[in-house]
Amino acid sequence: MTQAPTHVTDCPLDRVRPPDPSTRSVGPVIAIDLGTTNCRVAAIHQGNPVCIPSERMEGAPAVVALGPGGRILTGHPARGQQAANPALAVWGIKGLISAPYGDRKVKWLYDQLRCKVVRGSDGLPAVVLGDRTFSAQQLAALIFIEARERAQNFLRQPVHRAVLTLPPFRKDDPLPQTMTAAAALAGLHVERNISETTAVALGAFSRRRGKPERTAMVCAWGGGSFQASLVRYAARQCQVLSSEGNVALCGAELDKRVLDLLMRKLPSGVRVAGDANNPAALYRVAGAAEFAKIQLSEQTEARVRVPFAVTQGSQLGDFDVVLTRRELEELAKPLIDSGLKMCEQVLEQRSMFPGDVDEVLLVGEQCRMPLFRQRIEQFFVQVPTYLDEPGLSVVLGASRLSTSASTPPPSSSGAPPARR
Ligand code: ADP
Ligand code: MG
Repeated sequence: MTQAPTHVTDCPLDRVRPPDPSTRSVGPVIAIDLGTTNCRVAAIHQGNPVCIPSERMEGAPAVVALGPGGRILTGHPARGQQAANPALAVWGIKGLISAPYGDRKVKWLYDQLRCKVVRGSDGLPAVVLGDRTFSAQQLAALIFIEARERAQNFLRQPVHRAVLTLPPFRKDDPLPQTMTAAAALAGLHVERNISETTAVALGAFSRRRGKPERTAMVCAWGGGSFQASLVRYAARQCQVLSSEGNVALCGAELDKRVLDLLMRKLPSGVRVAGDANNPAALYRVAGAAEFAKIQLSEQTEARVRVPFAVTQGSQLGDFDVVLTRRELEELAKPLIDSGLKMCEQVLEQRSMFPGDVDEVLLVGEQCRMPLFRQRIEQFFVQVPTYLDEPGLSVVLGASRLSTSASTPPPSSSGAPPARR
């Protein structure tokens, strides 16, 4: 076994310079959606919004890790290091940058991180990797650097400008500034910060030419939260009528419940290898459990098999447990019920009913769960739509702004939505 690195010897932050004022209006504008789980990048390419893939996947894991030889890794390599050595990796960076250190809203995240989290000098959480402490802003910047490089390789030209998508934020929220500063550390000028909901509505409008005004419920269920937003959109106007969000209903919470169930299904006397100081086997099982949850959107049964991950007495063996879609649905039901309750509240705030909504837009990969789609359909008495792939609606919608950076920003007026 190779020794875990203890020093940072190579960090992309040390190589990137702040954006030069002379590049303020030079070159393409990319859209970046930093999610709790994944970071997606899009740009207008040959006249159309395209998602820029990472290793043939739509997005790159929004993970930073200290890798072999002391190199700071991001994206897929960082995810690999997270599985092998969770104490040297940080994910959920969007959650860390969105709330002050110790904030109860992101307690679920602190509970799941295995790296050392401390209070940063800016009041936000900071993370210790080897001999270096990274502020939440620096962690976001590391993800942006990877996103920028991905775009530069794809577009074959330097990229200096970006549109950033953010979770719904209030007027006095420091988040847009914090994210803009993080982008600057990645060498990017920020053209605009727009809320994820507004980005989705922009994408929706571009497909609904001819219909002057529509009221839509945007249900966003991703790795880090469940958000319901009632929006009215027309042309470049998007008004958020009301919005509620809850991080406790997130995809990662469902993963936790799946893992707990799998543990309960282990035969007596069998337990996962390792302990709090050596949680690698548990992390491998957690990764396989999440993969099983994803498979169960397509199939009715999934086998969670992880070699050499359990012990029985002094014997090392394989973790091998079957999970059914029905079991997963039982675990998801309370989360979905609460999500629908939230939709109801959001409608009530505007004295509206499910039938008043012209369309229901599903955003976020967790929305692929068949039970969720069924329940949404029953509640709104209409078939919900994905604008694009559910993980891509935000970034593709935002990329539509990148062609019109010189025109005024879309209005996103209305009731200030709740922050995640
Ligand atoms: P984020 O905004 O957090 O990056 P995503 O939209 O990428 O969110 O969604 C990530 C969440 O969706 C994770 O919890 C992941 O396990 C879950 N997920 C991914 N694919 C599927 C699928 N096919 N079915 C159900 N859940 C999925
Ligand atoms: Mg997202």
